[in-house]
Amino acid sequence: MSEFKTVFHKSIEQTSEVCTFIFKAPEKFDFIPGQFVQIIFDEENRSNKDLNKYISLSCAPGKEFIEITKKMTDSLFSQRLRSLKTDDQVLIKGPMGTCTYKKDSGKIGYLVGGIGITPVISILEYIAMNNIECDIQLFYGNWSEKQIAFKNDIDRWERESIKNLKVTHVIAEPEEGSSLIKGFINEDIVKQYMPDYKDRKICIFGPPKMVAAIKDVCINIGCNKDNIEVENFVGY
Ligand SMILES: Cc1cc2nc3c(=O)[nH]c(=O)nc-3n(C[C@H](O)[C@H](O)[C@H](O)COP(=O)(O)OP(=O)(O)OC[C@H]3O[C@@H](n4cnc5c(N)ncnc54)[C@H](O)[C@@H]3O)c2cc1C
Repeated sequence: MSEFKTVFHKSIEQTSEVCTFIFKAPEKFDFIPGQFVQIIFDEENRSNKDLNKYISLSCAPGKEFIEITKKMTDSLFSQRLRSLKTDDQVLIKGPMGTCTYKKDSGKIGYLVGGIGITPVISILEYIAMNNIECDIQLFYGNWSEKQIAFKNDIDRWERESIKNLKVTHVIAEPEEGSSLIKGFINEDIVKQYMPDYKDRKICIFGPPKMVAAIKDVCINIGCNKDNIEVENFVGY
């Protein structure tokens, strides 16, 4: 597994609690959309889980910069990210992970909860940048509309650059008058908005409880277990 030092460039607030951190892409670093890295703040003690964490790449490969996006908390790790200054050096290990975009996957359904959107952003940006033909349904669950990270990017890709991308936002507590679907990603919603779910490869990303709940939904409606891939964001 390769490791490399890179330098921090800048951060961008996505929502009040989600922030993207941008680093210079090291030479020869390549990854498959959907993969993650480990950010290592404690080099001496690699087993320090508080300071060395796994984070998905939230950008397409092949750019001048690499991006990660963290749901910010009061943790030591979040504090270290927040305190980074331009040109600070950071050790990154990776890439890793097999829950990735494969061009020959055929029709895909991405079902994600909250911060689980990050690998899908990498995948969608890659598809948009490379004009790849695809057939993708994205179900994106959040508590409120304000918590939808990357909303502008996702809207733009759906409207302009990715022909067969259909996005369904599912919001637990939408604002009054909102046109988005109220609730949690459930059997009725998946069946109604993705009637061909049995023909699709299903990929589920997010915090473990959300992943388990959404996987149950998929199995209950008859998705083939062999067609379901999951990536648990352990640590929430
Ligand atoms: C493959 C993968 C991809 C991920 N991608 C992202 C991403 O793109 N964005 C993002 O924000 N997060 C991602 N995560 C989760 C991330 O690694 C952190 O665990 C999470 O952000 C919480 O860290 P924290 O510093 O905010 O909270 P903390 O306060 O450190 O942790 C919150 C709680 O989780 C527990 N915990 C922490 N680490 C672990 C662990 N390794 N095993 C079991 N329990 C633990 C703590 O004891 C605490 O109770 C990913 C995780 C994995 C495994």
